[in-house]
Amino acid sequence: MGSIDVKFEALSPAEFFRRNREIAGFANPARAVYQTIRELVENSLDATETFKILPSIKIQVSYVDASRNWLGVYVEDNGIGIPGDEIPNVFGRVFYSSKYRIKQHRGIFGLGAKMVVLYAQSTTNMPITVRSAPLKSDVIYEYQVMIDIAKNEPVIVDSKTLENKYGWHGTAIKVVIEGDWPKAKRRVEEYLRRTSMIAPYAEFLFRGPDEDDFLVIPRVTVKMPEPPKEGLPHPKSVDVELIKQLIQRNPDMKVFEFLVENFDGVGESIARNFLDYAGVNPDMPVGELENDKLVNFVTKMREFNGWRRPRADWLSPIGEDILAEGVRSVLNPEVVFTVTRKPSSYMGNPFIVEAAIAWGGAVPQSDKPIIYRFANKVPLIYDEGNDVVRKIVDEIDWTQYKVKFPAQLAVVVHICSTKIPYASAGKEAIADVPEIESEIRNAIREVARKLRLYITRKEKEQELLMKYAVFTMYSEEVVNALSYVTNTDPDKLRRSMRELIARKLKLDRIERALKEGKLTEEGENNEGSSAQAASLD
Ligand code: ADP
Ligand code: MG
Repeated sequence: MGSIDVKFEALSPAEFFRRNREIAGFANPARAVYQTIRELVENSLDATETFKILPSIKIQVSYVDASRNWLGVYVEDNGIGIPGDEIPNVFGRVFYSSKYRIKQHRGIFGLGAKMVVLYAQSTTNMPITVRSAPLKSDVIYEYQVMIDIAKNEPVIVDSKTLENKYGWHGTAIKVVIEGDWPKAKRRVEEYLRRTSMIAPYAEFLFRGPDEDDFLVIPRVTVKMPEPPKEGLPHPKSVDVELIKQLIQRNPDMKVFEFLVENFDGVGESIARNFLDYAGVNPDMPVGELENDKLVNFVTKMREFNGWRRPRADWLSPIGEDILAEGVRSVLNPEVVFTVTRKPSSYMGNPFIVEAAIAWGGAVPQSDKPIIYRFANKVPLIYDEGNDVVRKIVDEIDWTQYKVKFPAQLAVVVHICSTKIPYASAGKEAIADVPEIESEIRNAIREVARKLRLYITRKEKEQELLMKYAVFTMYSEEVVNALSYVTNTDPDKLRRSMRELIARKLKLDRIERALKEGKLTEEGENNEGSSAQAASLD
């Protein structure tokens, strides 16, 4: 009998993603255009706002040939640039990143730019062209890079250095990809609009391949959120491998110091309490934690309830004011309410939920609330049906908040975290995590209550105006008749009549209450309002 010939081989990460590009969002030529732009724009935003630079991003899509199946995609930013010697790896080695840190970023995998290169290379066989100048650099680096897919290594097709005459800093990238522009156009524009909703301090200049294909999204505020600080892992978020790596750095360190130095929020007394709980001698060299002992130690770390809550300094929520400005400028509603919730955590990962409700004005009429989802300032466009936000919004009984559908109601939810539980590498939906789900629900309820208050107030105002109009109309007849019968000055009568109406309608009280924003509906406790209304006066 002949032997069965089974061949085994290893697969490089580049090869894996070349074969499985759909899991990173490059499923077809239309999706690929959207994903290409998105990956490049997100890198541009990370390279600007994280460093307190107001982002100015130029995007151009052009037809490369008559068939229009090949598209040139150009993205330019005014960010911190990339050091010349890093450019080949950054674009030519899958899983190479400056963002593998405990800190909020749009990028997380070290994959996006390489997916763009892999896709370009697989469809048009053209290299990526990168020009970049770091801050204060005398030169501009230019590279053409491809990927040696089998080795997961960059191939430098060409490189040169140019003089940086005008002190430019930033990065400009050009790729040629197979793409379906007519199908991608709407998604791309929607993506840019949504991005500007969450980053109204950025400006986008978009030029498409067709006649009159322009989109200019101006910067509407120069306020930017505080950039995140870089953090340490929280003891509840660790696993065995991470602890092993940390131990290897300095195996002679005492366990006690090891804990205090390497983890978020572990002070001396907490470290002592934990070691007591875990039954470990504080003076033991950490290198002695091996095998079962190590696994047990890590299990105890995750179980222990005496840790401090993870700090949220590693996060950068955009804040109630900037979110309101973004929503206002993109949706142009009658009114918007926003909230930034206090930090929470799941499995040691801090997160913050922000929400906004936009009502009326130019918000399109719809049979259910229109949803805008964001994670770490990235708009999520596809896969809404699978997203936890859709589920929560659909579960809410909106009549409770005086909303009857069809209505002009948009719900915006932003989640930021050092670890967003994305459901896939394409970053389009958020996996269900109970802690996050309940915070989203609370955030939406909080802004929905503000909306109910607003609607109630408007109803009361309108009712009052109606009454006032009716009373005034009849009072004129009464004044005339009275004045005729009693032979009194009609002006005097008119004045007392007005006073009477005002007193009966309690106009002054209501006016004052309206001015002070204190008019509350029955049963509504007016919590210190952190949301703002755009157009109450
Ligand atoms: P990720 O964004 O997840 O880190 P990418 O492959 O998209 O992965 O990018 C890899 C790295 O390249 C980034 O971490 C960043 O350091 C650098 N980079 C990419 N694009 C830019 C840019 N426009 N400006 C500055 N740095 C960039
Ligand atoms: Mg990226």
